[in-house]
Amino acid sequence: MKYLDEYRDADAAKSLAKAIAAVVKQPPASPRSLAIMEVCGGQTHAIIRYGVDELLPGAIDLVHGPGCPVCVTPAELIDRAVAIAGMPGVIFCSFGDMLRVPGTGRDLLSVKAAGGDVRVVYSPLDALEIARSNPGKRVVFFAVGFETTAPANALAVVRARSEGVKNFSLLVSQFLIPPAMEAVLSSPGNRVRGFLAPGHVCAVTGYAILEPLAAKYRVPIVVTGFEPVDILQGILMCAGQLQAGKAVVENQYSRVVHREGNTGALKVMAETFAVCDRKWRGIGTIPASGLKLREEFRAHDAEFIFNVESVVAEEPAECISGLILTGIKKPSECPAFGVRCTPERPLGATMVSSEGACAAYYRYRRPGSARG
Ligand code: SF4
Repeated sequence: MKYLDEYRDADAAKSLAKAIAAVVKQPPASPRSLAIMEVCGGQTHAIIRYGVDELLPGAIDLVHGPGCPVCVTPAELIDRAVAIAGMPGVIFCSFGDMLRVPGTGRDLLSVKAAGGDVRVVYSPLDALEIARSNPGKRVVFFAVGFETTAPANALAVVRARSEGVKNFSLLVSQFLIPPAMEAVLSSPGNRVRGFLAPGHVCAVTGYAILEPLAAKYRVPIVVTGFEPVDILQGILMCAGQLQAGKAVVENQYSRVVHREGNTGALKVMAETFAVCDRKWRGIGTIPASGLKLREEFRAHDAEFIFNVESVVAEEPAECISGLILTGIKKPSECPAFGVRCTPERPLGATMVSSEGACAAYYRYRRPGSARG
């Protein structure tokens, strides 16, 4: 296939669904016995938007993973962002998705409404340019993301240091996907039998790093793209492995992903960031699952500069996003879904983010919604 439309072709999707049904007809499948987790929130949205899960045989249960960085940024980091953004002389720059994410108190949008200088940017380099143009202000970029965004964030801070742009810093909320997949597999309630790994993350990291995970937990992992036909092909490959008793890493997204990844991006990441333990919203702290700026970049580390490391917060108890992001529950099983929690009045980040599972169900699966 060459063109995007071909990856959304209804006939191709139906024939893949038939092939999946033929594979899982063979024993040992039983109804809903094959829980396959799509890790990325972009994949979740494609599945719910196009009804990919509704094409599948009953033996396969697609569950939604922790691959939405906005959703897993903990409430206390939102509170730290709000605290910094409200300080005088600060220009706080962020991707638009983060502005309405609730912490334990205000969100960034309400800081902006109250007169704070909060700006939506499309890349960390935009924020760096704002810093160059405003030498009298302190410019902070909210560096949220997985391995996908880390190279650009690293590049921005490297440039700031080499150009002597001293008023530029990052508030770092960088997460790593493989430790989160391992946390899912080792959690007591785990029912995930196979993964669709996120293609964009693997475009940076390569997929060799997933091979130890597949071997240790005897779990098939298929690096998968983001269109409906990609996802169905990924499921077919994953179901085929499960039925054959195999557990290896396969690459459905070979038009983008290679085994060793992007070595240039990995190099700048490694020079700028160090691996650290990180708290995931609703899930808790996962060892070695995040990145922090290395000591030599301390002068560009907003948590250090603004001394907000002491701001701590508990997640709202009513939000069960941790259970959703580990595949144990679906958004529609949350008692607050669509009642006390809506995109206008969100209780959790998964209802706000454009990649959040709750937002996808709200948009496409409620009665009266786009597909409801
Ligand atoms: S519906 Fe709202 S409260 Fe429930 S899990 Fe999703 S974000 Fe949290």
